[in-house]
Amino acid sequence: MYSHTERFIIIKDGIDIQELLKVVPIEVEKENPFLKDMLGLMFLFLILFSFFIYARKKRMEDIKKENDANQKAYAFDPFTSTVIRPVRSNLAFKDVAGIKDVKEELEEIVDFLKFPAKYKKYGITLPRGVLLIGPPGVGKTMIAKAVAGEASVPFFYQSGATFVQIYVGMGAKRVRELFSQAKASAPSIIFIDEIDAVGKARGGMRNDERESTLNQLLTEMDGFEDSSGVIVIAATNKIDVIDEALLRSGRFDRRIFIPLPDRNDRVEILRAYLKNKPTTVNIDELANMSVGFSGAALATFVNEAAINALRREALSIELQDFVAVRQKVLMGKKKVLIFSNEEKQIQALYQAAKALSAYWFEIDFDKVTIVNDRLKDIDREIESKTQMLSKIKVYLSGSAATKLKYNEKFSNATEDLSRAIEIAKEMVEVYGMGEKLIPNENDVTFMLENAYKEVETFLEGMNEALEKIALELYESESITKIRLKAIIDEIL
Ligand code: ADP
Repeated sequence: MYSHTERFIIIKDGIDIQELLKVVPIEVEKENPFLKDMLGLMFLFLILFSFFIYARKKRMEDIKKENDANQKAYAFDPFTSTVIRPVRSNLAFKDVAGIKDVKEELEEIVDFLKFPAKYKKYGITLPRGVLLIGPPGVGKTMIAKAVAGEASVPFFYQSGATFVQIYVGMGAKRVRELFSQAKASAPSIIFIDEIDAVGKARGGMRNDERESTLNQLLTEMDGFEDSSGVIVIAATNKIDVIDEALLRSGRFDRRIFIPLPDRNDRVEILRAYLKNKPTTVNIDELANMSVGFSGAALATFVNEAAINALRREALSIELQDFVAVRQKVLMGKKKVLIFSNEEKQIQALYQAAKALSAYWFEIDFDKVTIVNDRLKDIDREIESKTQMLSKIKVYLSGSAATKLKYNEKFSNATEDLSRAIEIAKEMVEVYGMGEKLIPNENDVTFMLENAYKEVETFLEGMNEALEKIALELYESESITKIRLKAIIDEIL
């Protein structure tokens, strides 16, 4: 028989419990429903938990991947919450109308960005910095973007003003980040708009923040290797306030002037903006109406005229639309040079005389326009008396020419006269270049009068050339040194 102490395990489903109970006293253990639920819950929890761990891990991996990618593309500035992010420019040179010579100058930079190895092989060093100088709205930003577009390289845009508006020490940090990002994405272009905000000549009022930002910029530019493949393009409309240190060799030593568009340039810009617009208006006439307009003003001019035509419910944009909006466009501009035909003639003669003298007395320039002479300041440590006198002669020749032709002097000479006087004073009072070493009070007057007489005689003798150059300036509003030389060679 069975003893009470022995225990058996039987398979429940294999027997009839009720039958068995009649034979043996057995205990039937009931299942514990609570325990069963707990186990189920724990199992569920375990699944959920492992899923959570997996999802979290996956997210961290994704973030890391994203960060790694971003690291290459842009830097994040936690203090200003802005991102230094390059853009891919799709602008090409053909989108920038006119300013052909500027484009030509920049071709080399494009080529360098495209084929750096070629330049490296020949040991050619290219400028690290290009400074674009010109009034607002002439397309400085646009042309820099077009360089990036032509070379298909990333374009990093920063405005000089944002460097110095942020917390102390942040400007320098931002410069550092900008350069490190640009180097990581090389070949690339850094464009610093309004660089004068950073690079204003030191001295005068101290501004520690600006100074530390400027120093960082200088350090970064000096630290460039020629092969870094990063080109810095900066823009300003105030070259005279830029700190000398920025202009020293190896920094922004390539300077390109972009003046207000001359007549031909205006025709081309207007043509570009009128393309695909319903109009038969005479573009030459529009160019005559828009002396002193920048590229940006010309774009607005066309746009406003189109709006005007739309309001009139006209089928095409007509001259009357341009006439109607011209004043409005002019009012939006800070300083406009609007010449009447007579004033334009006087100004053309004035500038022609300066161009002719500059050529003759060997003061270098590329181009003289009706409103701008862009004489290259002689970058010499030691300047001779003759060179300084030549500059005086150039500055006096405009008013000498109008005196000869109209027997009249005009107010447009103010700025040049004060420049001439300034140089004469410096010569006499600082450099002892007057009659005697010790300055005499009449020396400055004497020097200026002598120079003036000499210029008068020179211009009288060159009247034919002068008239021709003046006519060319009147018609196309600018003349290059090469063209001027051709005119003189033809006559002499
Ligand atoms: P800047 O940087 O010299 O102040 P921008 O490059 O910002 O001038 O030019 C402002 C706008 O004016 C451009 O976006 C463009 O619409 C127009 N513009 C200026 N110059 C030209 C040009 N040469 N050809 C076509 N558009 C121009």
